[in-house]
Formats: sequence, structure tokens, C-alpha cells
Amino acid sequence: MQFVETRGNDGKKPAIVTFSEAILSPSGSFGGLYVPKSFPNIDSNFLTKHKNSSYKELAFDFLKMCEIDIDDEIIKEALNRYDLYDDASNPVPLSKIENDCFVSELYHGPTRAFKDMALQPFGHILSSLAAKKNQNYLIMAATSGDTGPATLETFKNQTNVKVVCLYPEGGTSDVQRLQMVTEDAKNLHVFGVVGDFDDTQNALKNLLASEDFNKALKDKHIELSAANSVNFGRIIFQIIYHIYSYIELVKNDEIKLGDKIYIVVPSGNFGNALGGYYAKKMGLPIEKILITSNQNNILTDWIKNGSYDLTTRHLIQTISPAMDILKSSNVERILHDKFGEKRTKELMDELTASGKYHLSEDEIEEIKKDFDASYSSDEECLEMIGEYAKKDYIMDPHTATCIKAYKTLRDQNLPTIIYSTAEWTKFSPTVAKALGIDAKEDLNALDLISKKTGLKIPDMVIGLFDKPIVHNKVIDKNSIKENILAIL
Ligand SMILES: *Cc1c(COP(=O)(O)O)cnc(C)c1O
Repeated sequence: MQFVETRGNDGKKPAIVTFSEAILSPSGSFGGLYVPKSFPNIDSNFLTKHKNSSYKELAFDFLKMCEIDIDDEIIKEALNRYDLYDDASNPVPLSKIENDCFVSELYHGPTRAFKDMALQPFGHILSSLAAKKNQNYLIMAATSGDTGPATLETFKNQTNVKVVCLYPEGGTSDVQRLQMVTEDAKNLHVFGVVGDFDDTQNALKNLLASEDFNKALKDKHIELSAANSVNFGRIIFQIIYHIYSYIELVKNDEIKLGDKIYIVVPSGNFGNALGGYYAKKMGLPIEKILITSNQNNILTDWIKNGSYDLTTRHLIQTISPAMDILKSSNVERILHDKFGEKRTKELMDELTASGKYHLSEDEIEEIKKDFDASYSSDEECLEMIGEYAKKDYIMDPHTATCIKAYKTLRDQNLPTIIYSTAEWTKFSPTVAKALGIDAKEDLNALDLISKKTGLKIPDMVIGLFDKPIVHNKVIDKNSIKENILAIL
């Protein structure tokens, strides 16, 4: 697989890079992203061949087909990270919640959110590349709650990689905060930042752009990389579970190989949805990708009427905080795939300059060939969680946004896969509320929900409350630079 840049090439960076180059320095010319120049085919032979494969076998074969410049041994070790999942033989179980509706549960990994699906193997590959080059890398993450724990978990005790993780103090759930501040390894540094997620993320962006910070890194021989979903090293692993879940439906006799399905993806930065789009493009029989979000519904606007407009919006805090996002980075990769580098650069420049862009009528039609979208209010989500709890299925508030799309967006009665991106344990006070349980704190909510539903609280979640806190520094957003330089 060779990679090109979404906004074209500036004549200074190489015009084409390999997979390992794209993941070690994920930022392209003019602030663009790397995308594959071409894609392999997922045809019926490939699907038939993998009808009885394990997740890891399917993933290995898929990655080989992509011809990435990573040694087989390292790919295999990376995929062994899925052995950490609840059921190593089936890391992504499928639950049937309606006759034609299935939930693909992507959260059975170490940090109980779907971020592990990509970050676990990606972390191993990045660390191995850094070690092989004998180069030290710094990964900086600003998190609203799920990326932080998954980034720390994947890089803990890896040589050649240091992680600095910033979270908004008071802006995450107890479980999410504990997952970060109890993570004990020499190469991990975690800071609470006074302010909200936007403050934290903006402070990080300014720091990354600052000259003396970059000079300090250079002096210390440290390279900067990124573990957010602008990194294609994450996206590639997010194609695989779409294929796996489709094959699961075939295996369970719910569909015949070749039948079309809908997929419903709760979206923020659009990495999960982009993985589904690439799978569709490669040939996986997907009728449409139904995008869901919360009241920060900029993606609904973009898909329904081609308008991406930040000027009329401010971020709203919802009960599905991992989707409280307005600048959705992977939309750019769709623009590039549909309309090419020249138009992508034009649109993204317009967004930077004026805070908005509008697609033409033809372009909107093009987007609608693959996507449709809806969003749910917090009240609707609570209602859906309550409705399915009565049918003995407990879902988290992000997953709950999918139900409305399933009920209202399908033009045809095709089987539908909903992606569940977090376990209920990560957002237990909200789930408690939906079940009519009064519990404001995580520990209390976990306990009461478990008693009411009979669901077990996984050891890695309940154990957090007894682990010693090793990162207890809360800093001001103006002192991030000093604090980071002090630990390097
Ligand atoms: C990250 C996250 C999302 C959004 O995924 P994207 O790939 O950024 O669109 C949705 N739900 C949960 C629970 C998440 O952690």
C-alpha cells in the first residue's frame, strides 16, 4: 500500500510514502492526511475463504493483502493483543436485538471502549518501528475520556515511546479518570487540565505548533507522532471488524454471502465510519452506512444537505461525550476519495478561513450514495437504553444513538449491524438514570445496575477503585509546556 496526501503535495514532503512512514509522521502537506493510493478487493472469494477464520487469521490475511511494509512477525505480535479481549477466540461478539438488527460489540478489550480495537495492535506496531529505528517518539493525546486510557494502555512499558496524556479535570467519568491516573509505567505521564476538553485540545494544538517546543524536542532527539484517528495506522484496523461482523452474519445463517446489509455507526471523528466506507469501497456488500450522532449533529447536516458550518455552532455537552465533536477529522478522507485532492484542499482551506463550506448539489448526491444520517437527543438516548433494558439488553449512551437510525433511515428491509462503541460500565451513572436507578457516582451506579440486571462488572473496571493513584497533577492550561518539558 502506498499513501498520498488529501490536500496534494507541497513539493517539500515526499509525494508518496509507505505505511510505516505514514504512521510515524501522520501529517501531510498543507495540513492534510495520508490516504491509500489504491485499495485491494474484498470479493466473495476472500469472504468465503474466511468463513471459518478466527479474527486474527482474517486480520492477518487482510493486512497481507494491503501489502504494508511491516514484518509478518510484528503483524502477528500486534494481532496477539486481541488475546487480551474477554474471549480471545471471538473478540467482537454479535448480539441479536431484533429479527433483523444485530449489535457488533467492539468494547470487550482492556479499556472497555472500541478505541482498543485499533490502538492495541497499532501501539505494538508503532513501538516496534520506533525500536527498530532506534528513535524515541513522543505521543501526545488530549482526551475527552476514551482515547486517553486506550493510548496509555497500548504503550505502557514500551521502550522508545513516551506518552503524555491530558484530560479535562472534572470532564470525564470516574472510571475514565481512574483508568488514566492509575496507569503505572515509567513512560506514561498524565495531567489533569483545568478547563473543558476544547481548552485542553486547543492548548495541545498550540504547543505542537510552537517553535521552542519543537526545538526542545529536536535537542533531545525526540520525534513527535500522533495516536489519534488522523493516523492511518488506526484506520487500517478499523476496516477489519466490519468484514468480520459481516462474515459472522453469514456464519449464523442470518444472511447469504453477497446479501447487502446496513451498518449504523455512532460517529465523532469519523474513524469508525471511514473504516466501514473503505470496506464498502473494497467490495463488502454494504447498502449504506448510517451515521449517528448526538446534538452536536454537524455530521447529520453534512450528509443531509452538504453543509459543514462551524460558525453557527458551539459544542454542547451531552451524555455521549465521545461524540461531542464539531471538527471531525476523517471527513477529509471521504472528501478526498470522492472529489480528489484539489477540491479537498479548496474545501478544507475554506473551512479554516471562514469556518464553513458547502458541497454542490452533485457532490451531495455523491455522498448520499454511501451515507445517510440522523442524531438523537439525550432524552431519546435514555429512552432507548430503557426500552432495550426491558428486553434484557444493556447498551451505553453512544450505542443508543443508533436505534433511531435503525428505525427511521432504512429504505429497504435489510439486516442491520449496529456498532456498540463502549460498555455500559464506562457511563454507568447515565445508564442508571435510564433504568430509573438513582446513583450519581460511578461506583454506586455500577453496583446498583449490576444487582438489578445480573450483569457482571469486569475485574478491570471494579479493580480501578482499589488501585493506587500514581498521576495526581492537575495543571493550568497555560503551564502545559513547562510541565511537559520538565518530564522529557
Ligand atoms: C471514539 C468514540 C466514538 C466515535 O468514534 P469515531 O471513530 O471518532 O467516529 C463513539 N463512541 C465511543 C464510545 C467512542 O469512544
